[in-house]
Parts: sequence; C-alpha cells; structure tokens
Amino acid sequence: MSQDIKTVDAIVIGAGFAGLYAIKHIRDAGFTVQAFEAGDGIGGTWYWNHYPGARVDLECWDYSYSFSPELQDEWEWSHRYPTAQELMAYLEHVADRFKLREKIQFNTRVDSAEFIESENLWLARTSDGKALKARFLVPATGGLSVPKPPEIPGIETFKGEAYHTGRWPRKEPTYEGKRIGVIGTGSSGVQVIHTLAGKCKHLTVFQRTAVFVVPAKNYPLTPEMRQRARATYAERRALSRITRFGIPAAMPNDSALEATPEERQAKFENAWINSQLLGFRQCFGDILSDGKANDLVAEFIRDKIRTIVKNPETAKKLLPYGFPFGTKRPCLSDNYYDVFNRDDVSLVDLKSTPIVRIVPDGIETTEGLIELDMLIYATGYDALTGALTHIDVRGIGGQRLSDKWEDGAKTYLGLMTAGFPNLFTVTGPGSPGPLANMSMSIEQHVDWITDCMAYLRNHGIVRIDTEPAQENAWMDHVQEVVSRTLYEKANSWYRGANVPGKPQIFLPYLGGHGNYRNKCDEVAAMGYQGFVLTRASGTGDAAASRFAEAGLAGGSV
Ligand code: NAP
Repeated sequence: MSQDIKTVDAIVIGAGFAGLYAIKHIRDAGFTVQAFEAGDGIGGTWYWNHYPGARVDLECWDYSYSFSPELQDEWEWSHRYPTAQELMAYLEHVADRFKLREKIQFNTRVDSAEFIESENLWLARTSDGKALKARFLVPATGGLSVPKPPEIPGIETFKGEAYHTGRWPRKEPTYEGKRIGVIGTGSSGVQVIHTLAGKCKHLTVFQRTAVFVVPAKNYPLTPEMRQRARATYAERRALSRITRFGIPAAMPNDSALEATPEERQAKFENAWINSQLLGFRQCFGDILSDGKANDLVAEFIRDKIRTIVKNPETAKKLLPYGFPFGTKRPCLSDNYYDVFNRDDVSLVDLKSTPIVRIVPDGIETTEGLIELDMLIYATGYDALTGALTHIDVRGIGGQRLSDKWEDGAKTYLGLMTAGFPNLFTVTGPGSPGPLANMSMSIEQHVDWITDCMAYLRNHGIVRIDTEPAQENAWMDHVQEVVSRTLYEKANSWYRGANVPGKPQIFLPYLGGHGNYRNKCDEVAAMGYQGFVLTRASGTGDAAASRFAEAGLAGGSV
C-alpha cells in the first residue's frame, strides 16, 4: 500500500500570499512540490475575506511581493489600500505569471499529516481520500484563517441570512431593504459597518469592546504616483527589510512625556491628518512602552470621537477604554465614526445591554428583540495556531501537534517545533508574523526555509528538527520582549484571549522584523545553530538516500 503513495520533496498547504511564494521559490530551487488549497481559487485570506469593505491596511507598495522587480513594475495598483478583490486579482496574476496553478490542487484540504520516522517523510492525507508523501511539510495556512464563531446561544435558530466575514460567500448577498446586524467591531467589523451603512434598510452594530479607529486616507492612485513609487521601490524594500515593522518607517526614540503639550498636539494632529497604520506609534518612541505616553494618544483619539459623533451618549459608548492604544490592531476607516450620526444606524453596547440569545427573527438583548434579516459575524479568528492545530498533525512517536501546544504554542524562531521534523511553519507563532508587514515576513520565511532545504539536500541531511530547550529559550525571549511593552495589557488575539479556553501566551515576536531577519540569517550561517540535523543512514531509508545521494530532490510525483 505505502509503495503506491507518491512522494514529492515538499507539500505546501494553502495558496494565499505565503503558499504561492512557497510554491514558486521551492520549485525554482529544484524541488518537486505539490500544494493543496481548500478553496476553489487562489487568494488564501483574501479569497475567504471578500466581505463588503474588505481591504488591506498597509499601503500597496508594502503589502505586495518584492521578489520580482518585473512584477512590481507591471502591476498597476488602483488605490493606496487595495480591496480584497484587487488583491485576489493580483495573486491570480502572480499565479499565472509564474505558472503556479499547475502545482496546486484546489478544493482539497489536508486532513492529516503524520511523520514516518523510518523514512523521514511526511505522509499527508487529503479530503479527496488520497495520500502523498513528502520530505518537507510547509503549512502556509495563514494566521487568520480559522473563523471564531461568536459562542452565542441560539445561533442555529436564526432564520435570516448569516455570514462570518472570514467565510464570505462567493455570490455577493444583496443588502438593499434589509435589516442587518453586525456583531464585532475589530478591523473586519469596522470595514463592514462603514461600507454597509446607507446601503441597507437599517444597520445595527453590536459592540462588545470599542476600538481605536483612525482615518484611512485611502485614495485612488494617479499614474504619477505609481511612477514615483516604481522609481523608489528598490530603496523602499531595502529599508523595509531592516525596520521593526517591515515597512519603510523608522521608529523614533524621543518620549511623548518630554515633549511640550504643543509639540504633542502638533504631532498627533499630523498623525490624524496624514494617517496610516503606524502614524500615531511613530509620533514618539514610548507610545507602546509607557502607559502615560500611550494615554496621551488614546485621549487625543477619544477627543476626535467626541467631536465627530453628535449624540453624546453614542459617542460615549464608542470611546475605547480598557487597553492601551496600539495593543490591539488599530482599525483604519475614513467614515466609521460619522456612520453613527445616521438615523439608519444604531449602536448596541453589549457591556450595558448584553445579548441574551439569537432567535429566529433576530437578536434578543436585555432590552428586547432587535429584528434582523441578516446577521454578520465579524467575530475574528482562532488566530496564529488554529489553522495548524485543526489539521491532525502527528510528529515523532505519534505526538499530536494540538496536544503539544495544549498549554501554548512553542517554536524555535517561529520556524520549527521540536518533535515535528521537516515541518516548517511560515510566519508561525514565535515569529513577527502579524506584528510586521506580512508580505515581507512571508518572503523572509520562505527564503530562509528554501535555503535551509537546499542546504540539507547539499549536505546529505534528511531530517531537521529542533530541541525543547531551544524552543523554550526562544519562547521565553518572545515573552521577555513583550513584557517590555504594553501589549500584555490587552485581551487580544495576539495572545489567544479571544478564544474561550485557548491558552494565553503572547505569540508574535515583537523584537522587530529587521532584528529577527538578522537572527535567522545568523543561525543559518552557523550551520543551523539550534537545529538538529540528521544524515541519511542509507538503510531502510530509500527515498532519503536517493535524496541525499542525488544532491537533488529524491522523490517524484
Ligand atoms: P478581531 O479583531 O478579533 O475582532 C473581533 C470582534 O468581534 C471584536 O470586536 C470582538 O469583541 C467581537 N466579538 C468576538 N466574539 C464576540 C461575541 N461572542 N460577542 C460579541 N462580540 C464578539 O477580528 P477581525 O476584526 O476579523 O480582525 C482580526 C485581524 O485581522 C485584525 O486585527 C487584522 O490584523 C486583520 N484584519 C485586517 C484587515 C485590514 O487589513 N484592513 C481587515 C480585517 C482584518 P472583543 O474585542 O470584546 O473580543
């Protein structure tokens, strides 16, 4: 039976930003690769999240691949912040341009993956009932791909339309004339709310925690703007590779507390007017590390909310409290707060008026029934680990990854977890991931992983693993870095606080994209320090020996 199972060098899971680049780069390095994608098209996060208003919150010049100058030159972005649809079109272009589709099997989930110790191969079983072996397993499954349901009683009884932003239907629903409820006011909820307001009969926003929303300042791009961006791409990307957030934005060192009130006001006003995701955090060096400095920004934004929202009671409910500014991802919107001045939009503050249950006709709160035709759950994700632990991954001795991470995910450098050899996580827990420019982080990880695979191939090494001591030390370092900041003060998805029962441990590495890149390069230059490399034994390991002897990919599809 096992003889009939084909073998490739690498299985890539997912065909989003990470999966596509992994397929390309690994294939171009001379390895055989097979990718599986659950959706019926390219796009990953953007395939599933094309809800009304979905767009990226980093500028297109940064949130795009840097590996191909030709690609950069030929792609015409339409807006500063492209929509999900435009990002999908871009990724489809990438797939076609670099001939990646032929490596992807769509509509297919990897249900399980088991490490066969005697062969040093992964055996993956897929939802079409088939199996495939591979030397390397590369889950490019994304950090925000498993939707978190809202755990509200009666959810199954609702008789109207119901959608989660992370599983938006391919056929766009209609909104006109409908009474729509949105649960959740994170980045997804904010985008849905400002887009659907005025396009439906009535919009009711169910808010559990108010968030900081800063202006997006999105605009269409002119040919001159594109020309300017193209002329500076190389410089921009080079700078992004060394900065903290993986975008060309240097962080200052000065303290907000040492500035005069006038200086602070001028900087904050400028950040509001010329807004971008990092704007306020770039005003002073201590916004994310000093509670008092952070309060100054928080209060500045609260004042803006008080000014924009006409009804003082509504404004009060929209004021964010309980976590420092920036420790949950700030949301971008050009009209979010204005929306609450409309008669056809109402806000339900769930802290004072909790939901009792969902009923067939709508939502019952402690103040009565709100009738709805459509319910939109913008309730977030089982982030960073969910996509990995939802696959039945078993490593050495049959250990399940979900069991190993029961008390919190552990990795060495966000790249490997001990006992799961030859499995590389792309932007996994313990790497900067969502706290840096994701597209930059993806390229850095895939480059490192592919170089590592080539090194193993060239040195006759068939197994790479790490050790518990290494990952414990790395995760201690991740925690130590975060403890120097205010991030721990927020119940964010960065630490699993949004999913009931999930172990709470801060998962993204806050040490900075540039520093992290250097660390990964250093480890590789020292012969993969902290990793355990095993050479082919030559016995009972035919595929491994072939792989090693050929100095090339051993398996064949
Ligand atoms: P999120 O930030 O986790 O927000 C989920 C929202 O749902 C929160 O307001 C949460 O309230 C609420 N919620 C969850 N369970 C609930 C319940 N049972 N009852 C009532 N409210 C509930 O999720 P997201 O908005 O999908 O964003 C996740 C991340 O995706 C973002 O942080 C961002 O990194 C990324 N994203 C980016 C963009 C962009 O680029 N523009 C767009 C969308 C998403 P609590 O805060 O009280 O838990």
